[in-house]
Amino acid sequence: MNGHFSAVGDAPRGGNFDNGVQVIDEDKEFNDNLNDYLQSTHVAEAGFNYHLISVFGSQSTGKSTLLNHLFGTDFSVMAETERRQTTKGIWMSKNKREDKMADNILVMDVEGTDGRERGEDQDFERKSALFALATSEVLIVNIWEHQVGLYQGANMGLLKTVFEVNLQLFLKDKQSTPRSLLFFVIRDHLGTTPLSNLRTTLIQDLTKIWSTISKPQGLENARIEDYFDFGFAALPHKILQEDRFKCEVQKLGSRFTAGHRVGKPGSHGDQELEGGVFLPEYHRRIPADGFSVYAEGIWDQIVNNKDLDLPTQQELLAQFRCDEISREVLVAFDFIVAPLEEQQSEATKLGKILVLADLGVTGSDARGKCIKAFEGQASRYHKGTYTRKRQELESKVDTRLRTLYQGQLAAAHKAGVAAFSEAVTNKVKAGQKAGGSYEFAEIVASEKKKTLGAFKTEAKGLVIEGVAWTNFKAQYQLFEAELDEVSAKLRKEEMRRLATRVERWVKSRLGDAIGLEFNKLGSGRGGSGAPEDGQPPATERDLWDRIWTVFTGIVKEAEGRFAERAKSFDASDEEAEVGMWRLRRKSWVGLREKIDEEVMEGNILLKLRENFEDKFRYDEAGVLRIWRPTDDIEGIYTKARESTLTLIPLLSRFRLAETYAPPDLPGFIGHQPSGVEVRDEEDLSPIGGVDEDEGKSLEEEMTVLSEGKRQDLVVRFKKTADGVYVEAKRSAIGGVAQ
Ligand code: GDP
Ligand code: MG
Repeated sequence: MNGHFSAVGDAPRGGNFDNGVQVIDEDKEFNDNLNDYLQSTHVAEAGFNYHLISVFGSQSTGKSTLLNHLFGTDFSVMAETERRQTTKGIWMSKNKREDKMADNILVMDVEGTDGRERGEDQDFERKSALFALATSEVLIVNIWEHQVGLYQGANMGLLKTVFEVNLQLFLKDKQSTPRSLLFFVIRDHLGTTPLSNLRTTLIQDLTKIWSTISKPQGLENARIEDYFDFGFAALPHKILQEDRFKCEVQKLGSRFTAGHRVGKPGSHGDQELEGGVFLPEYHRRIPADGFSVYAEGIWDQIVNNKDLDLPTQQELLAQFRCDEISREVLVAFDFIVAPLEEQQSEATKLGKILVLADLGVTGSDARGKCIKAFEGQASRYHKGTYTRKRQELESKVDTRLRTLYQGQLAAAHKAGVAAFSEAVTNKVKAGQKAGGSYEFAEIVASEKKKTLGAFKTEAKGLVIEGVAWTNFKAQYQLFEAELDEVSAKLRKEEMRRLATRVERWVKSRLGDAIGLEFNKLGSGRGGSGAPEDGQPPATERDLWDRIWTVFTGIVKEAEGRFAERAKSFDASDEEAEVGMWRLRRKSWVGLREKIDEEVMEGNILLKLRENFEDKFRYDEAGVLRIWRPTDDIEGIYTKARESTLTLIPLLSRFRLAETYAPPDLPGFIGHQPSGVEVRDEEDLSPIGGVDEDEGKSLEEEMTVLSEGKRQDLVVRFKKTADGVYVEAKRSAIGGVAQ
């Protein structure tokens, strides 16, 4: 407490209110005595009939002097000889010159708001200025004429903060928003610049400030005129022109009466106000006896608002130095890390896989050195600031390393997958070359282990003790999952290869076995029993039964081999099912091809001829006949021919002797295993009766010779048989002739 009470003695606690009341003291405490003061000055009983005015402005610009002259108050004024700040905190006093002025004007004198002398306590300035702004109907902004247009000098920077927080704290609710009058009092007005010009400059500055403040949601478009009216007055130099000063102050005083608005609000300036400065809409509508509680509530909010807190000098210094040191230590970090970043991004750009050597060691080294260097120099500064700045530095460094490490693991991932896939493929190839004795599942398992191990080593190398983000478990799991995916793909390929091998085996076995069955047709010896029933002889009748038995036998064996091998790959049951289903289909198609080959015109005609010749030329005992003219050559010929002819209908259709029906091909092949789209993507020929949607019946599938071919075959065969008969006949006659 300096100056103010030097004349009156002790603080006015408990009733001595000669100099008004200190609403807020220099420790930012709200004074409980405010209400007592309002009681003792009889303002408390005035209801709404009171007014509140505050003053705002740089230190030692004659604010207190002005108030004392205007309102007869006794705020302390700096002695002209010692230029030191006088007013401490916020003081309030009731207007003592009630003649020609409104009733119950309460005036608040606010500590100077320039802070030049008390550098660290701008904090108080902001808070007290906001308090004045939030509570007062009229805010006198006291300003030297030569400060007009100077952003700093006119405390415009402070106004900006105060406007901003005022909007956030108190004006969010547009409905109940009170307006205030910003009443600029320009001091030491020389008179050369008319007031109207000064007014224009000030309004421009305010509008500019308003446009740059950050506004709460919903108020983005709020204009300064929505909250403030502007008033202006100019006063001559108090010391040089004392009489004129007093006269002008007198005139100014008379403006502190009730007034009303003549124009619409928001047209800038006080032209639209008539009468005095107290417009009803400026009033906060707080009954006077509640004002103290209301003001205390506002002060509470202001004190607890972080946006208004300003750092101390110590913190400012720490911020400055820590930033500087941070920049310095980052240079060394950069020197090591930037080239690595460049290499990595270059590789990425070119689509190359680059795994940087020893990245973990280099990275953690650079990080450690950087932070240690910062700690060494910066830790002696303000603790809180140092800690915060250190965290900032760590996060800067870590962001860089993190990107680098993630790129590294991505590269290791890609490289690992490629290496794995290549190693498995190569080993399988080598195994195939060496005669096919390799275990696919074993190859996959051992290569996976190797590749996973390499990835783990890389990931572990990047771990930094105590740094949480260097845990790369997720990346490891992702890598393992992808290896499994690649394994599955390779296994599928391996299955394909196996299927091809088994199919080839089936084809070759079928070729031999079916050929054998058809060759048996060529020998009709001993089988020329009279075909009274039109049926082929018993030995030939079950041709298809034998073929079907041979076929299913071969396929079953092949399925067994396939299943066993697939199991050794670790293929799933489902995968094996599909493989065998495909195998059965392909085998059937192979059989049909073989049959078609056997019944090709030349082939089958030859077989029929052989069959016929055997029947014709050999007797029941299987002895070659020597034709004599007395022999019933024609009878034997006819019998043999008819017997062979019965083969043609037999050959035409794949039918089992017992049931006289096609074999159960659909049952044999079975349903397509569910969940597998095989037909669409692969070259599986459709099979009649199995693939119902193909529009081909089982009967058609089982047709070996078409009706036309069959008739054609009969004709040709008969011709051939005739030839043999004629020859026999000739030889019989020839034998006699001899
Ligand atoms: P405050 O800190 O703004 O309240 O300023 P004071 O009212 O304590 O006055 C500070 C100094 O300015 C005192 O020495 C006053 O005599 C002087 N002063 C007061 N009014 C005027 C004025 O109109 N013009 C000039 N040049 N000086 C003034
Ligand atoms: Mg003062």
